Amino acid sequence: MPTPPQLSPEQRAAALAKSTRARQVRAQVKAKVKNGDLDIAAVFSLAQSDESISKMRVIELLESITGLGKVRAQALMERLTISPTRRVGGLGALQRSALLAQFSIPSIDSRLGRLVVLSGPGGVGKSSVARVLRTRDEFWVSVSATTRQPRTNEVDGFDYYFYTDEEFDRAVKNDLFLEWAAFAGARYGTPRTPVLEARKQGKNVLLEIDIEGAKQVKAKEPEALLVFLQPPSWEELVARLEGRGTDSAERRSARLELAQEELAQAHYFDESLINDQVESVVEHLISLATS
Ligand code: 5GP
Repeated sequence: MPTPPQLSPEQRAAALAKSTRARQVRAQVKAKVKNGDLDIAAVFSLAQSDESISKMRVIELLESITGLGKVRAQALMERLTISPTRRVGGLGALQRSALLAQFSIPSIDSRLGRLVVLSGPGGVGKSSVARVLRTRDEFWVSVSATTRQPRTNEVDGFDYYFYTDEEFDRAVKNDLFLEWAAFAGARYGTPRTPVLEARKQGKNVLLEIDIEGAKQVKAKEPEALLVFLQPPSWEELVARLEGRGTDSAERRSARLELAQEELAQAHYFDESLINDQVESVVEHLISLATS
């Protein structure tokens, strides 16, 4: 390693001020990219006259693009054979144009994250799929409100917002739900504002809701993608519902009856996936949302 040059205190202070300024400029650029005030074409052009921007790492720039996230930014760089340490000013002409092509002229709508509705008969395993998706960057999973009692392992505000009947009535009256439906003796609803806010930030949103709710969402948001989750077989679904220690016998039998009616509605959906393995359903949903 070469020995660093001997600097006077003034030179050191000047160098420090320069690097502080450079960091501030880069933070500003990233914030502007994040909220959509700058696109990457504009950043490339600014980099020609500003050394701080020219020295920004490409990965940092990509990660600040709303909806892209760390994992997808890295995957994109790999695909375009851009080294992980490459700086904006060091991009070759081909790499620059490949990146520009990826993000060309985003319209207001294409910046909105996708709305994906996962539905299907009770007991098919929607909540297991949603649980895994909560751990993934590609989706923001909506938290519903419900009037049913919490199960032993459920946490208020994470699994559901547990509402009293009065609270739910008030939310309906104030039009706070994107959709809501009664299911097996309780009511369930999707709070509207968090879904819109997440989509505005470019996040793909997953709603894990019943079929009635899915239809309401499609009526209000026709661009929503409705995905129907099928059990591998009817026997499998029965076994899953019968095996649910958390539900009463009465509730389980009501659910079986309902499941039969629900299975007949698959044709209403844009996509149908068989839940033979949670991981493969998860990957499929991600590729539907990001394609
Ligand atoms: P569970 O009580 O087993 O958690 O859910 C019962 C059913 O309600 C499931 O089919 C689930 O997908 C559905 N559900 C959960 N949240 C909502 C919601 O916000 N709206 C509607 N319409 N259904 C929901």
